Amino acid sequence: MSSTVVVSQRGAERAERGHPWIYQSDVVEIRARGGDVAEVWGPRGRKLGEALYSDRSQIALRLLTRGEEHFGVERLAERLHAAIAFRDRLEIDATAYRLVHAEADGLPSLIVDRYADVLVVQALSQGMARLLGAVVEVLTERLRPAGILARHDVHARALEGLPETIEVVSGTVPATVAVRDRDLEYEVDLHHGQKTGLFLDQRENRWVAAAYAGGRGLDCFSYDGGFGLALARRSTEVVAVDSSEQATARLAANAMRNRLANVRTVTGNVFDVLREMERRGERFDTVVLDPPAFAKSRAALSRALGAYKEINLRAIKILEPGGTLVTCSCSFHVSESALLDVVEAAARDARAMLSLVEKRTQARDHPVLLGVPETYYLKCFLLRKL
Ligand code: SAH
Repeated sequence: MSSTVVVSQRGAERAERGHPWIYQSDVVEIRARGGDVAEVWGPRGRKLGEALYSDRSQIALRLLTRGEEHFGVERLAERLHAAIAFRDRLEIDATAYRLVHAEADGLPSLIVDRYADVLVVQALSQGMARLLGAVVEVLTERLRPAGILARHDVHARALEGLPETIEVVSGTVPATVAVRDRDLEYEVDLHHGQKTGLFLDQRENRWVAAAYAGGRGLDCFSYDGGFGLALARRSTEVVAVDSSEQATARLAANAMRNRLANVRTVTGNVFDVLREMERRGERFDTVVLDPPAFAKSRAALSRALGAYKEINLRAIKILEPGGTLVTCSCSFHVSESALLDVVEAAARDARAMLSLVEKRTQARDHPVLLGVPETYYLKCFLLRKL
């Protein structure tokens, strides 16, 4: 017999409005085991679709299909093929990018990133974890990767009661992989790097930022150097700041690899470094702020906004007139308008006038799914100081 979960009227309505998640509090009857693909029924005996069922997470159901449509291995393969074909059409001039962006590709809780001939996967729910074998099979057949690595060392897995592991699930995966982004080459540590190795969602924003660069550049929260290296080609000098020693070490190595002798790294806390730079009267023509998610929850929002304001204020102060501020937030809880308000308030305090030149979001290989605000997380504004 197939697995079935019955949901409340509220859950059914939410699903009908298009959101693929149904919360545990809206589940009224369960005839399924955690990890099953279950039929989802509304209170009046109507099938709403099929979903990944989790018996641990707050998100009990992640809808895969609507109405009568059945989700089997064939559908899974179809969606993987469609996701890959879409990235092919984007003609991305890089060898590292996202192939599958979960909900936005109709594959809830599945991430697949390509790093040259290696794939990195994340199965972030009980149901997707169970389907991972089938996913690996399709990816292997279609892309013939040298290896596939599961970066399952993420908190989302703990919330599902799944082990947080890093595991080679197919072929061989070297310690580091060389990837190319336009004319820049990076060495990526797939096993230990943050996220799946690189912050792929900023790929396009880096090149847009670089187009405005000139003179001195400052890359705050630089990680392995994404923005800094892209700026360096068009700048006399770039200073890159990150608190992680591993990150600045890799950044320095990446700069050498690309023969960029004008990049200097600083290992330290951006809050302190900016304060010190301001005190010394340093000035920059481009300043990038790409902090980690300061607001990991709604409760942390007001403190987070204070932190965003502080770094933006200091960045605006050390920015030369005519210079460009690239300010980002990857906190889903910080809305576009909230971030703009923060920057506006910071500009006022700095007695500076800024004009908004570009509003950007995640790269095209990380699309936002309409009706699912959670998939719109990255904000990136480019502003000019008058
Ligand atoms: N700009 C990067 C991604 C940044 S991710 C890119 O485009 O690839 C955020 C980075 O901020 C991480 O590398 C983390 O080590 C660093 N970080 C977090 N808190 C910090 C702090 N207070 N000061 C400096 N770096 C910090």
